[in-house]
Amino acid sequence: MGSFLVEVLVEYSVRSLDRPFTYFYRGDRPPKPHCRVLCSFGPRKRLVGFALMVREASEAKETLERELGYSLKELRDADIIDPEPLLTTELWELAQEVASYYLSPLIRVLQAMLPPSLSPRSSSLRAPKIAYDYYVKVVDRNEDGLTPKQLEMLRLAISSGPIKKKEIGSPAVLKALLDKGRLAIERRERMRHAIPEREIEKAHELTYEQRKALDAILGAKQEVVLLQGVTGSGKTEVYLSLSEEILASGKGVIMLVPEINLTPAMVDYFARRFGNKIAILHSELTNAERYDEYRRIARGEAQIVVGARSAVFAPMANVGLIVLDEEHVESYKQDNAPHYHAREVAIMRGRREKAKVVLGSATPTLGARARALKGVYGYAEMPHRVNERPLPKTHIIDLRAPGAFGKESDKISKPLIEKMREKLSKGEQCLLLINRRGYWTGINCPRCGHLFKCPECGGNLVYHREQRLLKCHHCGHVEEYPEHCPECGNPAIRRVGFGTERLEEEVQALFPEARIARLDSDVGRSSYRLEQVVKGFREREFDILIGTQMVAKGHDFPHLTLAAVLGSDVGLAIPGYRSSERVFQLIAQAVGRAGRSLLPGEALIETYNPNHYAIALGAKQDYVGFYLKEMRERKLALFPPYVYLIAVEIRAPKEERAYELALSFANELRSLELPSLRAIGPMAPYYVRRDGLYRRVVLLKFKDREAVIASLRELVRRYSLLPEVSIDVDVDPLDF
Ligand code: ADP
Ligand code: ZN
Repeated sequence: MGSFLVEVLVEYSVRSLDRPFTYFYRGDRPPKPHCRVLCSFGPRKRLVGFALMVREASEAKETLERELGYSLKELRDADIIDPEPLLTTELWELAQEVASYYLSPLIRVLQAMLPPSLSPRSSSLRAPKIAYDYYVKVVDRNEDGLTPKQLEMLRLAISSGPIKKKEIGSPAVLKALLDKGRLAIERRERMRHAIPEREIEKAHELTYEQRKALDAILGAKQEVVLLQGVTGSGKTEVYLSLSEEILASGKGVIMLVPEINLTPAMVDYFARRFGNKIAILHSELTNAERYDEYRRIARGEAQIVVGARSAVFAPMANVGLIVLDEEHVESYKQDNAPHYHAREVAIMRGRREKAKVVLGSATPTLGARARALKGVYGYAEMPHRVNERPLPKTHIIDLRAPGAFGKESDKISKPLIEKMREKLSKGEQCLLLINRRGYWTGINCPRCGHLFKCPECGGNLVYHREQRLLKCHHCGHVEEYPEHCPECGNPAIRRVGFGTERLEEEVQALFPEARIARLDSDVGRSSYRLEQVVKGFREREFDILIGTQMVAKGHDFPHLTLAAVLGSDVGLAIPGYRSSERVFQLIAQAVGRAGRSLLPGEALIETYNPNHYAIALGAKQDYVGFYLKEMRERKLALFPPYVYLIAVEIRAPKEERAYELALSFANELRSLELPSLRAIGPMAPYYVRRDGLYRRVVLLKFKDREAVIASLRELVRRYSLLPEVSIDVDVDPLDF
């Protein structure tokens, strides 16, 4: 019988515990490194930990304890959860690099990396190994005695039809409704994940541009290559041909899409070309399915993995290619810790495993384009659509012009109504994009000026008519719509700014015959309904699709000939160094949706700022013009890609404490006089509270990463030991 010392990371992802703790094992089968174990820690008896180093103990336990000055807790055979390591050496090293780059506790990265049933956290032990789907069913529609959150969920369940348990929202609210007998859970066994058999199709013969792009990517001396191809230029076909080459060389492919709802289409493409060598990894799969797929990949049974952000961590042994389609989309960045961006992780992984990394986009982020121009990334370009289909004709509608609005509507401009009428009469389809969901987006009292703000985070409350509730789109707070102003009692509350819901109603009134579908995250919470809407629109079951930017991405609708963007100015008003880039991308993507098949497309942009460069150049699809102009702006204001950004957020229960700590943090940082570093703030973020804590942010701008990171790491570590404080570090933040 041997005795061993086992280093264990515990599941708490707080910075003060971001180091291994030593446990003692006596027996013949010590845990292998990179397995989960059950361990006691402090007063807690059964935490999940992640074993790191395991070494033979050179001395008796008592001797060691005497030397250490504390008693070693023991691990027993029954505490070992996984018989085999969960990570390959490559992934383990990648995890360390990610944790180091993002200044994140290592355990947090491991938790983001591994699927729920293998993740080092207690909840993983309850994750099922058989695949069931759990649906929520309405039992009793009685609304008496419900809190606003409960009302919201009940009404959602009523309006959405069968909805999966994990899609309906807060488990606590659901539990309350189950306890009150309003909802019930129905369990249905789900077919294990299987990609339907498809006829293998022959590849399209590549166009001249596609062939040139393929050669450029394969021939590039850089590992990372930007593929900039206009919408409809046939980038997918390039990914497929590239994959063919990689598979032929005996290596695997990881194909990333920005959103879960774009996976089925991509899986289709790959399945038609490569049959069933494919695995899918994303959070919409049940835990059991993810477990299966993860294991299949780890066993080397899938040569292609298609998935969203976290698939960049797929346990594939021999990766030859990682593709990020629509590289510019923000959902590639996780918006909570460790705040990783799939692009940066893909690049780290590509470098370690000598894999090509291809970033595809019609409108690349400025950073990607700048690196390509400097030769840091390789570059391939496809400036034309397949078969020379023209890009849509685009018109900007100046809403300030007299006569912009007619008698019919004060929300949709006259030219847009006329254009819609024309398209609908020919049996063609229209897409209306607006970047706000809900019915009214601003609620205030005209008598006393009271603004309806979220008590949790300070954001604006939005009126949702379908559910008759006020919602905060930032933190999820809901409350009932009041009859009177809570400040002065005025019953005439003013509602301004319209969202998707109100627009749908307006369009239906204007075109009573038209079949209308709406797609926003209220609807899209249920993946089933989302798929139905997208599929229905493609098959012309609807004439008009109204949606938020989630419809602007990726989808291919052959009969769509008119795309319109409403309220494009709202995006410009949102503070942040990327607001112009966002608006440009929204418009360019929307314009790119129209006219993708034989019918020529048109696009209309409604705006009060027709001369703003993001709008004017977006409408012209003039990416280069936009790039040059925006790069000048970024250079003047010192924003990426000219500098790096790190946002350090300090949270505390009292606002003064958050402010004081952030101030002294910023001052300490400044006193270090690091070259090229500017510390800005403390600033109050737009949403001042989160999880009941007040937030203050110190923004770091710098050029020399090496010089800054080590000192910052030390400072963050020290501050996170202070009582009642939590620190969130966002490296390369997308806002600010
Ligand atoms: P992108 O992703 O660049 O916007 P897609 O990959 O969706 O463009 O391609 C646009 C359309 O062109 C698709 O319908 C696709 O099937 C078609 N296509 C792509 N390559 C070819 C080709 N070489 N020959 C014929 N059709 C093609
Ligand atoms: Zn809120």
